[in-house]
Amino acid sequence: MPIQKQSLTPAGCAELISSSRRVTAMSGAGISTAAGIPDFRGPGGLYVTRRYDPDKVFNISWFRRDHGFFYEFAHDFVTMMETVRPTFTHHFLARLEASGMLRGVITQNIDMLHQSAGSRNVVEVHGSYGSATCCGCDRAYGALSNAWWVREMRSSPSPPVVQCPVCKGVLKPDVVFFGESVKGYDEAERMIAESDLLLVVGSSLTVTPASYLSLGAAGKTVVINRGDVSLEPSSSRFFVDGETDAYFQEVADCLGMSII
Ligand SMILES: [Zn+2]
Repeated sequence: MPIQKQSLTPAGCAELISSSRRVTAMSGAGISTAAGIPDFRGPGGLYVTRRYDPDKVFNISWFRRDHGFFYEFAHDFVTMMETVRPTFTHHFLARLEASGMLRGVITQNIDMLHQSAGSRNVVEVHGSYGSATCCGCDRAYGALSNAWWVREMRSSPSPPVVQCPVCKGVLKPDVVFFGESVKGYDEAERMIAESDLLLVVGSSLTVTPASYLSLGAAGKTVVINRGDVSLEPSSSRFFVDGETDAYFQEVADCLGMSII
């Protein structure tokens, strides 16, 4: 008989968090949609609602040929990020880590909202927009959202192509493009293998490497996501179809945590 999908109440989740020795979280676009960042590929996503061509924006071959596609997107993204703040769930995960109850967060997002909320151990498998590398001389630039090259983009009314001040090469933000390797995979894999609880937050687990990583969980897995999830049910897996903020507000209440 096939195993049925089992759900988990916020109280049950709080109990699992309290009773686990090592907890790791893995987040996807769903955690940031409440902050106002559209899921790039979802029905309301940047690719669909705006003018970007998804086959070109994050494609490393296109970037080498013509930087304009990416910088057009990056200009809008950086401008949008000026007004975006972390969600309740970002703050909740940061507080869990500060309390010693969470080892760290693996994220597919490039928005740096985990760090903005106070998370310290963040593995960004798709990189982030907060730092950049020169395509000409390989110099690394900044690891902050207020890095000069970000300010340069914000202050420009039209999409600029930001150049390295040393060699005039083009800066490529450290976002993982199609055709490039993901970042921190080994570390993410180890964190999950060593945890007895994996919280998957706002990810449908359809995109690599999150889909592979989730299979390495040795203990229990709880997936909180709005919509379908690409993970087979098992006796150690729980699925909650819902908004992450509403769910974790209840989990925080059960843990006696006041967040924001
Ligand atoms: Zn350079």
